[in-house]
Amino acid sequence: MARIVLAGAGHCHVEVLRQAADLLDAGHSLTVISPDREHIYSGMAPGILAGSWSAAEASLPVAELAHRAGADFLQDRVVSLDPVGRTIQCALTGSHHYDLVSFNLGSETVVPAGLSGSIHPVKPTGNLAAVAALLQGERASGVRVAVVGGGFGGIEIAANVASLPGCRGGVSLYAHRFAPALPERSGRMNYLRRVMVERGVTLHLGEQVKAEELDADVVLLATGIVPPAVLGELNLPLSGDGALRVDEFLQVVGHQDIFAVGDCAEFTPAPLPRVGVFAVRQQAVLIHNLMVRAGGARQGHAAAEGLRRFTGTGPYLQGMNLGPGRGLLYRGPWTVTGPLAWRLKARIDHRCTGRYR
Ligand SMILES: Cc1cc2nc3c(=O)[nH]c(=O)nc-3n(C[C@H](O)[C@H](O)[C@H](O)COP(=O)(O)OP(=O)(O)OC[C@H]3O[C@@H](n4cnc5c(N)ncnc54)[C@H](O)[C@@H]3O)c2cc1C
Repeated sequence: MARIVLAGAGHCHVEVLRQAADLLDAGHSLTVISPDREHIYSGMAPGILAGSWSAAEASLPVAELAHRAGADFLQDRVVSLDPVGRTIQCALTGSHHYDLVSFNLGSETVVPAGLSGSIHPVKPTGNLAAVAALLQGERASGVRVAVVGGGFGGIEIAANVASLPGCRGGVSLYAHRFAPALPERSGRMNYLRRVMVERGVTLHLGEQVKAEELDADVVLLATGIVPPAVLGELNLPLSGDGALRVDEFLQVVGHQDIFAVGDCAEFTPAPLPRVGVFAVRQQAVLIHNLMVRAGGARQGHAAAEGLRRFTGTGPYLQGMNLGPGRGLLYRGPWTVTGPLAWRLKARIDHRCTGRYR
């Protein structure tokens, strides 16, 4: 029997828990380590700010999934790893032995130098539930909100906050550039700029933001994401920006019993954008390979025999929630905007979270 540890409860690991029966029936044990009993699904996080759905509706019930599956849930945070001794260390519960371990620890918001104080990074997404409660509170009328970061996350956050009656006209977005992933002269860019005008969001572009210059009661940081700093404590190979380097089988390079998926991994055959879509695409390969290695580890197999390669690196559907009735969906040459895009994105996201309830 192999002792399998899932570190973090990102998009891949919740699916491992949902499909845990095969691993458990084969006699293996499964433990998931997560600081939170519930984890807010990032695709639905901006909609919590606008009150389109509650934090509970947007949450993945990690502890409950583990309980239902018959897996162990450890409410804790991974702090380091000893790959030679095969132990994983946690902040509260100490060391745990593993035969196989998989990391799905997500990413953290970049906090620019000079910005500190009462700021709310958009990752971890749990931060947004607290901000939503503040902005939707009875006394929230006339609140001034600054969003720092002009990527898709910052634009979604600004548009959703600005749709709240109490924040109307009081939302500013600060960024070097607005939607840098899109060509300046494109229908998609025009649509995003039009929504900013409609929502009354004031753009401050090209400026190096300093905390003391932000004229706001609430500051939300959407300044890009980086792999979590804890990865540097795992004694494993890292990419230039600090992600775990994985091969085509999602195994950490040089470590056949250590897997990494989602934002915390760099897929070395073809580095991928840090979006949840790829973590979702990696689910089936991770589950298969854990099952194969759990058997192989038990029998002392060293080779990649029976493992599946991850090949889902192709184009994906980009979706943006720009507040009630406004959305942008595109893939290749295909674009949908407006209420239909908002409804489609909401339906896709609800389908994703619904399967875990
Ligand atoms: C505002 C916003 C909107 C977004 N919208 C979309 C979207 O619509 N579609 C899309 O594809 N992507 C979207 N993204 C990107 C998306 O957030 C990430 O790509 C996605 O969450 C990555 O998933 P993951 O499975 O790697 O990790 P996550 O879903 O981030 O999960 C990581 C888990 O690890 C846990 N963890 C962290 N550190 C530790 C530790 N030390 N020990 C134990 N557990 C730990 C966390 O608590 C969390 O539960 C959005 C991002 C933002 C900021």
